[in-house]
Amino acid sequence: MLKQLLNHLNPFVNLGKKDYKIFFPLLFMVAYTVILETYAYGIAKNPQIVGLPAIILNLVFIVYFSLRNGLKSGFIATGITILYYVYIVYTRHYQGQRLTSSINTIVALGFVYLIISTVIGWLKQRIDSLISKEMEARIHAEESRARLESIIDQLPVGVIITDREGRLDIANKHADLITGMKVPGFTLGKPETYSLRNDNTNIATEHGKPIKDGDWPLVQAFSTGKPVEKYISLKRKDGRKFYLQLTASIIRSKNKEFIAAAEIINDVTQQKEIEDRKDDFINMASHELKTPLTSAKIFLGSLKLHLKNQGDEKGQQFLEKTDKQITKLTNLVKELLDVTSINQGRLKLNQESFSIGEIVKEIVEDLQPTTPQKLQIKSSTDQKVTGDKEKIMQVLANFITNAIKYSPPEKNIILNTKKEGTNVVVSVQDFGIGISKQQQEKVFGRFYQAHQTEESTYPGIGLGLFIAAEIIRLHKGKIWVKSTEGKGSTFFFSLPIES
Ligand code: ADP
Repeated sequence: MLKQLLNHLNPFVNLGKKDYKIFFPLLFMVAYTVILETYAYGIAKNPQIVGLPAIILNLVFIVYFSLRNGLKSGFIATGITILYYVYIVYTRHYQGQRLTSSINTIVALGFVYLIISTVIGWLKQRIDSLISKEMEARIHAEESRARLESIIDQLPVGVIITDREGRLDIANKHADLITGMKVPGFTLGKPETYSLRNDNTNIATEHGKPIKDGDWPLVQAFSTGKPVEKYISLKRKDGRKFYLQLTASIIRSKNKEFIAAAEIINDVTQQKEIEDRKDDFINMASHELKTPLTSAKIFLGSLKLHLKNQGDEKGQQFLEKTDKQITKLTNLVKELLDVTSINQGRLKLNQESFSIGEIVKEIVEDLQPTTPQKLQIKSSTDQKVTGDKEKIMQVLANFITNAIKYSPPEKNIILNTKKEGTNVVVSVQDFGIGISKQQQEKVFGRFYQAHQTEESTYPGIGLGLFIAAEIIRLHKGKIWVKSTEGKGSTFFFSLPIES
C-alpha cells in the first residue's frame, strides 16, 4: 500500500508514457491551497505566515507536477498558485506602496513560475515522445521477429539460421523433426562446438559412418561463401534410412555485408523412393528390351546376307533403314541402362591406358561415313590417359553426334586434342544453332533438352550429356561448354594425363 502510494508520488512514474492527466495535480493544488489558507487564518491566526516557505513550496510543486504530468499540469499548478497570491493580496486589504509592491511580486513570481513550468513540462514531454518512439520501435521489432519466427517455425521444410559467427539464431520445428534431433548451434572457428556433430545426433551416414562437420552444406557455405546444394542419405539409430536435400547459403544485407547464414532441409525420402522404383523399372524394362534387340540385330545380319545373295536391292535398302532404327533403339536402351547405373552408383570403369589422339581418329573414321558434315581433326596429341576407353569414346561420340545433330550439313565440325598443364583437353566445335547462356549450365542435367524436341527436328531424350558428365567426373576430369546462340558451340572435356 505504502509502496503503491510512493510509486504514485514518484515524479518519474509517468516517464515515457505520454500520460498527461490533470485531475491529480488540480486536486492536490486546490487542497494544498485550502490547507495553507486554513492554517494561516484558522490555526496560526497569522496571515504573514504564508510568506517565503509557501513561495518555495509552491515552486517545488510546480516543478514536481511539470515533471510528473507535463505542461498542462505545470500550468495548472502555476495558475492556482498565482490565483491564491492574488486572493491573499485582495483579502488582506493592502494599500498604497504595499499593494503596488505585492502586485509587482505576483507578476514577477508568476513570470518565473511560468517559465519554469514551461521549460520543465516541455522537456518532460519531449523525453516522453523520444522514449515512446523508441519503445514503439522496439515493440515493432519484437513483433516482426515473433511473426518471422512463427512463419519460419511452421514452414514445411527445415530451416536453420545462424548469425555471422555461426551461432544458431533460429531452428524451426521441422529442422528438429527431420534430423530427429534438437539442432544446436554451429560456432565457426571452434570445431569442438560444431553442432551437428555425431555425438549430438542419432543419425549417421547411410553406411553407418559418423557425419563429418564438413559434410554439412552450412559449414561448406561458410568456408566458401557460395551457396551449396547437396543430397545426403542418412540412417537413424533405429536403422531407418532417410534422404535429405540440403541447401545452404550466406545471407548478405543490401550493402553486401555478411549478416547471417541459412540452411534449408528438405526430407526427400519419399521422392527418392519413388525415383528408385522408377529407376528399377527402367532398368528392368531396358534389360528386357536389350535381349530381343540383340537377337533382332543378329537376324538382320543373316537377312542382309540372304537378300544380297538373292540380289534384292530394294529389300536391302529397307533392311538398311530397319538396321539404322534398331541401332538407334539399341543406343537408347544403352543410355537408359547407363542412367540407372549412375543413379544407383553402379557405373563401373574398366581401367586401361590409351592414347586420346588415337580414339579421336578412330571415332572420326567411324562417324564420317554417316554424316554430310566434314569432321576435321585440327590438332592432335598422343598423350596417354588411364581410364575406361570405351566410356571415353562414348563421351566423344556423344559430343560429335550432337554437333552433327545441331549444325547444318554444309558446316565443318572441328576436333582438337591439346595438352594443357597436367591435363589433356579434347574439344568438339560446331557452327550450328548454339545454346543460350542460361541453358549452358543445364545441358549436363538429366533429361534436359535446350531445343524443341519434335522427333523430326532434334531426336533425343536429353541423357547423352548427363551420362558424359558422370563418366568424366568418375575419371576425375572436367566437362564444360562454350557457346553463342546462332553461331555454334564447343564442348570440352579434360582428363588427367597418365603420370
Ligand atoms: P539429346 O539426346 O537431347 O541430344 P544430350 O544430353 O546429348 O541429349 O544434350 C542435351 C541438350 O543439349 C540437347 O537436347 C540440346 O538441346 C543441347 N545440345 C547438346 N549439344 C549441342 C550442340 N552441339 N549444339 C546445340 N545444342 C546442343
